[in-house]
Amino acid sequence: MYEKFDPINSAKLVHHYITNMCDPAYDNLPYWLLLPNKKPAEAAHCRVDDAELVGSWYEGLTSAMCMLGTTDGDDVKQSLRRHLMKSWGKHGLRFCEKYPWTHTVHASFHEMGYILPAMNLITEEYPDDEEAEKRTSELVRGMRSLVIERKVCTFWSGDYDEDEPIYEFPNDVYLKDGGFDLTRHTGRGEQAIRNAVSLQGLVRRYELKGDEVALDLARGLANYVLDTSKYFNYKMEFFGHVHSAMWFACGIVKLGRLTDEKRYIEKGKAIYDYVRSLSSDFGWVPEYAQWHPVEEEHCETCCIRDMIVCADELIKCGYKEYWNDMNLFARNQLIENQVRYSGYVECDNSRPDSDGITYHDIDKRMIGGFTGGSEPNSISLTRFRSIAGCCVGTAPVALKTVWDDAITDDDGILTVNIPCDKETDEIKMESFIPNEGRIRLTAKKSCAAGFRIYDWMRDYTVYLNGKEINKTSAQLNKDDVLELKFDISTVEKKETVRGIEFTVCWRGCDVVDLTPKGAHVRLYQRDLSKPKYYPTPDDVDYTGAANYGPTQQKK
Ligand SMILES: [Zn+2]
Repeated sequence: MYEKFDPINSAKLVHHYITNMCDPAYDNLPYWLLLPNKKPAEAAHCRVDDAELVGSWYEGLTSAMCMLGTTDGDDVKQSLRRHLMKSWGKHGLRFCEKYPWTHTVHASFHEMGYILPAMNLITEEYPDDEEAEKRTSELVRGMRSLVIERKVCTFWSGDYDEDEPIYEFPNDVYLKDGGFDLTRHTGRGEQAIRNAVSLQGLVRRYELKGDEVALDLARGLANYVLDTSKYFNYKMEFFGHVHSAMWFACGIVKLGRLTDEKRYIEKGKAIYDYVRSLSSDFGWVPEYAQWHPVEEEHCETCCIRDMIVCADELIKCGYKEYWNDMNLFARNQLIENQVRYSGYVECDNSRPDSDGITYHDIDKRMIGGFTGGSEPNSISLTRFRSIAGCCVGTAPVALKTVWDDAITDDDGILTVNIPCDKETDEIKMESFIPNEGRIRLTAKKSCAAGFRIYDWMRDYTVYLNGKEINKTSAQLNKDDVLELKFDISTVEKKETVRGIEFTVCWRGCDVVDLTPKGAHVRLYQRDLSKPKYYPTPDDVDYTGAANYGPTQQKK
């Protein structure tokens, strides 16, 4: 027997993490930083908790609650909402509270990429919340007021009017006291792309509320990044932060789809295709492109989210070939990047929370978190961000996207895209992958239903109430059973990922084993007949790596 893809269980686990890895002393403020390898293990507050996570965890928790159909966790959700409604300042920007662990109070345009989607969600869920609508509108207008607008190109051979909006932020940080102080920067570089991650939120704002200022700002930022900044080459390859570039790609595909401007869709597709070329078939996506040698790269779960969300956008634009990536990425590396075992963690439950640090039950509370840096075969606990607050907020968005897309109405036919166990008003889907090559649909009412056929469904046959039919879909009456059967015997494929040649054991769309096997928290231990290999507390070192900067993130 092998482990099955179970997105609902994954949603339960991340719901557990978000609702437990927060601080009741500060109205359930999240803890971004978790050090499971420190002895004793701890979670600590830092500025990002309030500046970014209150937004991304609001979105993440809401996604998990929607999947689970529960109101459990609403107390934490309302706490996050209260945090979100604080700390607003000049130009409609959201800053952060001055906590003991906060240094300079500032807003960054990258962080607005997390705040705006959460505000969009609040205005969508609570249409009577006038304060939220006001803040969201002011954030959009404030950001628009802060951009440099390039109007004339003063070239050596003459002056040329720019015929499209081109907007660029003057810096990546805006100080609460001091505004644009050009002696300050985040030091992350790549301001063009990092400042543009609010694009998807801006386009969503336009979609939800018809906000033309949001659309104008989205266009201007997109044009700047795609053209003037020279961030991408002619093939849309780039060098730098994959999460930012892919998040931007999600935004421009959505922009192109809503405005019917194909050039944006094509550019976004090309960015996706480039990052896909650096990724594995099972969804290991590097955190950076061409920055480190590839053998030093790790997979940040945020990047898998971006690939899944962008695939969803591209599918909506008619590129059906991206269904396969979405399915494979979700059920393999996304799921493996979630923490389900913590027996190697040393806890000290006698220590009280103090100075923004919490110790109690870290081993239990960390279950369901997502890693900020996996290798294809392991999560390296000694690495900075072995479990990352940002990924905990973004992963549930990917899970919900996949869950919502599991069965879609394709030209009047309810079509299975993502095999798993799911029940809708019309139909019950049961998947037996990877144990058997079989997906069964039982109609709960009269409907047309069928299966999306993938290359890995070898020698498939479709049965209606036990009788073979020569179509992949059929009209069903209540209690009719439509089944797809295919050859799922294990296939070993060689794939070079992170500079290492792996032997990947596939059963249908699921990776069930991977060699060489990894150290520390070993991944893809999906053969349930084999004993699990887990690290002990002695295997786990603490090297003080928490302070490593982004360019020092080795193992
Ligand atoms: Zn992340």
